[in-house]
Amino acid sequence: MVDLFRPYRARVGLTLIAVIVGVLMGLLPPYFLRIIIDDGLLRNDLRTVSIFSALTVIVTIAAAGVTLLYGYWSVLIGQYIMCDIRNNLFVRLQAMSLRFFTATRTGEIQTRLISDVQGVQTVVSTTVTDALSNVAIVITSLVAMFLLDWRLTLLSVGMVPLFAVIGSKVGDFAKNVRRGTQEQTAELNSMMQETLSVSGVLLTKTTGRLDTLTRKFDQENRKLAGWQIKMTLVNYLFFAMIRLITSLAPALVYWLAGYLMWRGDASITVGVLVAFTALQTRMFFPLTGLLNIQVEILSSFALFERIFEYLDLQPDVQESPNAVALPKESVLGRIEFRDVCFSYDESVRSHAVVDISFTAEPGQLVALVGPSGAGKTTLTYFIPRLYDPDSGQVLLDGHDVRDIRLQDLAEIVGAVTQETYLLHSTIRENLHVAKPDATDEEMVEACRLAAIHDHITSLPEGYDTVVGERGYRFSGGEKQRLAIARALLKNPRVLILDEATSALDTRSERLIQASLAGLMKGRTTFAIAHRLSTILAADQILVMDQGRIVERGTHETLLARGGLYRRLYEEQFAQPTTVRVSDEDGNAD
Ligand code: ADP
Repeated sequence: MVDLFRPYRARVGLTLIAVIVGVLMGLLPPYFLRIIIDDGLLRNDLRTVSIFSALTVIVTIAAAGVTLLYGYWSVLIGQYIMCDIRNNLFVRLQAMSLRFFTATRTGEIQTRLISDVQGVQTVVSTTVTDALSNVAIVITSLVAMFLLDWRLTLLSVGMVPLFAVIGSKVGDFAKNVRRGTQEQTAELNSMMQETLSVSGVLLTKTTGRLDTLTRKFDQENRKLAGWQIKMTLVNYLFFAMIRLITSLAPALVYWLAGYLMWRGDASITVGVLVAFTALQTRMFFPLTGLLNIQVEILSSFALFERIFEYLDLQPDVQESPNAVALPKESVLGRIEFRDVCFSYDESVRSHAVVDISFTAEPGQLVALVGPSGAGKTTLTYFIPRLYDPDSGQVLLDGHDVRDIRLQDLAEIVGAVTQETYLLHSTIRENLHVAKPDATDEEMVEACRLAAIHDHITSLPEGYDTVVGERGYRFSGGEKQRLAIARALLKNPRVLILDEATSALDTRSERLIQASLAGLMKGRTTFAIAHRLSTILAADQILVMDQGRIVERGTHETLLARGGLYRRLYEEQFAQPTTVRVSDEDGNAD
């Protein structure tokens, strides 16, 4: 935690100096008060009264100025640190492999990034300076009180342990409540995220589960309210007890002073008594503040724990310290798998892929075929290192992919997935994702090749048309062609292509086939193939079943073998009844 402050050492130092100066200034008015009463009022000396009243005003205003200054500085430091934490979390999360995201709910991640960080803000901005100024005020006030009268001081100090006990009890409780609140907030955020998205709403509406969902939301919502009520109660209780103590304290002091004066002690004057109670009040206020800070800090630990849990995450896919630079231009695109094994969950001894070995020569088209769940998608994940194999190697031009700089690997390998993820933004920006510095000409060229340019220009705002939430204004075929345009812009050496399973009308199908052929040319391509045209064009077909390559070869040889491939082929393509509905006008597109 201390590390967080390190970049701002100088500013922190300056702030601390300002705090001390402010505290010392605040100590003067009670002393002036004693002089005003004892030397001025009680002796009818108007000059002294005037001078020290004026001094009190000046010092008080100056002290307020200093307080404002260090308050501002500490907020600055706090905000800078918040930024740092959010940046660190963001970078850390981006480095996590796919495994992390498939296992974590999005709402959870957002809550940590935004609301947990927000929650520690008070601690790192105001709390630290507050704590310091409060400690300084308490100590200096105590010293000043001691100088005025040690007996009265002892009486006041006697009450301090009471404060401490209350503070730590309440602090522990508040920490639990805080953690509970954040966990519940994350729960609610996740729920909203899952249900208030296009897919979520579709699911609810098509299953008619609105009432169940509403009930569940209400339940979770009430839990959150419950936590928050608890939090407020803790605060009330805390302040009520503190108020009680601070109100009772002066009465005790007056009584003791009265008793001492009655016994004939001449050292206690009216001025001393007034100055003393002024100092005591000055001390109790920050003492309360300190306790509150104690509660604040203890409960913020709950949030820090949550934040550091994420900051301490070790990405399972990491760049090797001696990774080599491999510029895209120099890459041929030869991919070799050597005995690759992998399972998603090590505790479950079922492998997603087992003993995968094959070689794809530069520019070849490798078609992956097999029943659903056979491991085709998983196999493609190792090339861009979305996951690393448990054993075995994946080589690109003879380099283990784990020894290639991640940035370079990302440039070399491109993917067109079944689901095209479109940002809620313009078409132009959605294309720029693939190549941030693409010129308009390059963009148009890519879209022409992907057979989507004409469609884009027919839209009212052309390339500046805003794509709806997750691209729902585009049909499946159009989205695929946008994805192909993206891939063309990126121009990777190795392409992973997950062909859409959903059937398109013939016109779209023809457009896509043509643009795919253009895309695959000159690149090593791995296609999770659902199109006959892709399979027929493949240099080699890998037939997968239950994580293994069970057959390999070209279409003819595999067909002649009469094994799994032949069966799949006959099921999917050879029956005339499954010929896709033709729609030459392309309405369904
Ligand atoms: P295919 O692409 O051939 O349909 P996959 O590669 O998607 O097959 O899946 C292979 C196996 O791995 C399946 O049994 C699937 O259930 C499992 N699997 C896929 N993704 C995950 C995941 N994120 N966590 C756990 N198991 C997974």
